[in-house]
Amino acid sequence: MYILEASGLSKAYSSGQGAKQLVLREIQLQIAQGEFVAVMGPSGSGKSTLLYTISGMDGISAGRVVFKGREISSLAEEELAKLRLHGMGFIFQQMHLLKNLNIRDNIILPAYRANKNRRGSINKKAAELMKRTGIAALAERDITQVSGGQMQRAAICRALINEPDILFGDEPTGALNSKAAGEIMEIIAEIHQTGTTILLVTHDTKVAAQAERVLYMLDGSIAAEHRLGRYEKRN
Ligand code: ADP
Ligand code: ADP
Repeated sequence: MYILEASGLSKAYSSGQGAKQLVLREIQLQIAQGEFVAVMGPSGSGKSTLLYTISGMDGISAGRVVFKGREISSLAEEELAKLRLHGMGFIFQQMHLLKNLNIRDNIILPAYRANKNRRGSINKKAAELMKRTGIAALAERDITQVSGGQMQRAAICRALINEPDILFGDEPTGALNSKAAGEIMEIIAEIHQTGTTILLVTHDTKVAAQAERVLYMLDGSIAAEHRLGRYEKRN
């Protein structure tokens, strides 16, 4: 069963004087429930645009995108926002955490927005996520007082607080040193183990090596695709 399907997905940006730049060219992509997919390719090849259009964060120029059997490309913004809030989690290179809130409050914010749980169960879920990602002791800390790796752990907790079906990541290890990046990847691999579908844009081959499938984008198309075996750690 596919959780996410794009067919004929195209995206054009106007490049002045009525001219259009085609950034995604009739993408066909099917992501299975529970799959871990990485997207690689040169800068400017359309990786981020693929992530943002397939998740409904950005509009598309042609084609369709179906998430859990619903065509999201034709949904009204309000409906789409609701679907994203409940069904999708996002992590980015820059973590976009709020500086005036502590770690716990950053994490629980989307849960209050979703308004589907009571305060007690939200706090319980946040505590469980912080424990799983190794930041339980930092709950009261200001965002400005933790490392980049710890911030990304908090961002992961925030992305998972509403128990999304799919986790999207745009270079989630891009701002981290290699030790912190490795730790974040272990956490992402564990999230995958628990059944969450994962779609990550990355230029890091170590990150991509953990995925079950790697897509290589070139000039707005998926130029190649590799299905890999299990990641093996070598010392
Ligand atoms: P990648 O993630 O592979 O580096 P992007 O998806 O960010 O590639 O960008 C693909 C192309 O689309 C680039 O040429 C970029 O300049 C262009 N692009 C991305 N976002 C916009 C935008 N909002 N407006 C105009 N052009 C854009
Ligand atoms: P990434 O590192 O994810 O590829 P970029 O640095 O390419 O991101 O783009 C950062 C932001 O600027 C994105 O929101 C993207 O949509 C926008 N952007 C990228 N290229 C252009 C462009 N040529 N014109 C307008 N916006 C752009």
